[in-house]
Amino acid sequence: MWRGALNRCPICGEGKVFKGFLRVVDRCEVCQAPLGRLRADDAPPYFTIFLVGHLLVPPIFWLERAQEPPFWFYLLVGLPLFAILTTLLLRPVKGATVGLMVRLGLEG
Ligand SMILES: [Zn+2]
Repeated sequence: MWRGALNRCPICGEGKVFKGFLRVVDRCEVCQAPLGRLRADDAPPYFTIFLVGHLLVPPIFWLERAQEPPFWFYLLVGLPLFAILTTLLLRPVKGATVGLMVRLGLEG
């Protein structure tokens, strides 16, 4: 999973998992593992939303109770923060999911 999160082939650790932002390569360029046969589908976005929600919702609840910021604060700071963090984490989470699927033998 760690190798996949770092965009490294979960099997050999040398080749890349992705071509582009989220498209998984058909075959590892080093060990020829058929990574393109692994279909993560909706699992990476689900895990990413779950993770980002658990990272950001508690501080936002705390901020709401402690400071009661105006609504525009959530529009200008909260929503972009959710969007940026989700975008940054989606690729490593998908790579880790591909690594987990390799480990569990879940091929399409
Ligand atoms: Zn490989």
